[in-house]
Amino acid sequence: MEKTLSKQGVQMESRFLSYMEKYDYENLFICQDNATGLKAIIAIHDTTLGSAVGGCRMWTYNTENEAIEDALRLARGMTYKYAAAGVNLGGGKCVIIGDPKTQKSEGLFRALGRFIDRLGGLYMTGEDVGTTLRDMEYIRMETEHIVTLPKELGGAGPISYATAFGVVQGMRACVKEAMGTESLQGVRVAVQGLGSVGYHVVEILHEEGAELLVGDIDQAKVEAVVEKFGARAVSPETIHAEDVDVYCPCALGAVINDNTIEQLKCKVVAGSANNQLKEERHGDMLHELGIVYGTDYIINAGGTVYDTDRLNTGGFNYERAMGKVTRIYETMTSLINISKEKNIPTYKAADLFAEQRIEEVKNAKALRTRI
Ligand code: NAD
Repeated sequence: MEKTLSKQGVQMESRFLSYMEKYDYENLFICQDNATGLKAIIAIHDTTLGSAVGGCRMWTYNTENEAIEDALRLARGMTYKYAAAGVNLGGGKCVIIGDPKTQKSEGLFRALGRFIDRLGGLYMTGEDVGTTLRDMEYIRMETEHIVTLPKELGGAGPISYATAFGVVQGMRACVKEAMGTESLQGVRVAVQGLGSVGYHVVEILHEEGAELLVGDIDQAKVEAVVEKFGARAVSPETIHAEDVDVYCPCALGAVINDNTIEQLKCKVVAGSANNQLKEERHGDMLHELGIVYGTDYIINAGGTVYDTDRLNTGGFNYERAMGKVTRIYETMTSLINISKEKNIPTYKAADLFAEQRIEEVKNAKALRTRI
C-alpha cells in the first residue's frame, strides 16, 4: 500500500513540477482540514510585481488533478492580467473542491482564511465563480489578505459595473482601429449575455448612442433591456452571426471557434467573457480576417483594477479607481499598435506586452538602491 502511494506521489510530483517549470510557477499549496471539510489548492505563479492575487473559485471538480490544473492555469492568467493592466500585483488563484450550492459553511471559509493568513501576504484572495461577497466576509474574519470586500468592510463593493465600463473602453479602441471613429454613436453592437456585466455594457452603450442587439437564454433579462434601453432581441444561439459592427460576448467562453468564425460579419470582437478564443489559432484566424479582437483578459480587467485600487493607496477611491479602468482604452490601443508593427494577432501582442512589463520591473528591481 505504502509503495503504491509513494509511486503515485512521485508520478504526480514530476507531472506538476515539470508543468510548473515550463511556465515558471513559484508555489503550489494544498490545504486540507477534516473538521470543516475544506479541500483547497492555492497556486502562485509570479510575484515579480507584487503579492499574488486571484479569486477563490468553488467548483465540483471530478478529480484532484483537474482542480490543481485549473488553479495553476488561472493563476498564470492573473499574472498576465495584472501585468498588462499596469497593476503592481502578481498572479495567484485558489480553488475549493466542492459544490457551492450544498457544501459552503462559515467554518469552511474561515479555515481557508487561516491557511491564507499563514502565507503572510504572499497570496490575496477574492470572489470568483461559486463564491460571493458573503463568503469573503468569512475569510476576512481570519485574514486581512483579501481584495474583494463589501463597501462596509472597506472594499470596493460589487465590481461588474467597472468591468463593463472597461469593456466599453477597450471596445472603443478596437472600433477606432476598425472604423476610424472613437464615438460609439450609431455603432451596431450585438451583446451576448445580459448578466451582471452584460447588463451594464448595454446600459453604457445605450448612453453612448450605440444601436443594440441583445441575446440571453434568460428571457426575463432580455425583456428588461429591450424595455429599458430600446435594444432589439435576437436569438442567443446565432447572435454572433448578426450583421453588426461589434460582436460583444458577455456570457460563455470558446465562442470564437471553427463554427462561429465563418459566420461572423462584424469588424470587432470585444466583450467580457473569459477565454473567448476556443484555441489560440482562432485568434490567428480573426487576425487574418482583419477582425480586431479586444483581447479578453485586457478589456475585462476593469473589475480587478477597480477592486485592487485600495491596496497600497491608503484606501479605496472611486474616482481614482475608475480613472485606472479608463486606461484600458490606452492599453488596447498599444496592443493594436504592437499587433500592426509585428503583424501578430492582438492576443499575442497582449502576452508580449505583459511579459515585457514583468521583465522590465524584474530588471529595475535588480538595481541596488542602498548599500
Ligand atoms: P453572469 O452569470 O452574471 O451572466 C452571464 C449571463 O449569460 C447570464 O445572464 C446567462 O443567462 C447568460 N448566458 C448563459 N449562457 C448563454 C448563452 N448560451 N447565450 C446567451 N447568454 C447566455 O456573469 P457575469 O459576471 O456577467 O460575467 C459574464 C462573463 O464575463 C463571464 O465569462 C465572466 O467570467 C466574465 N467576467 C466577468 C467579470 C465580472 O466582473 N463579473 C470580470 C471579468 C470577466
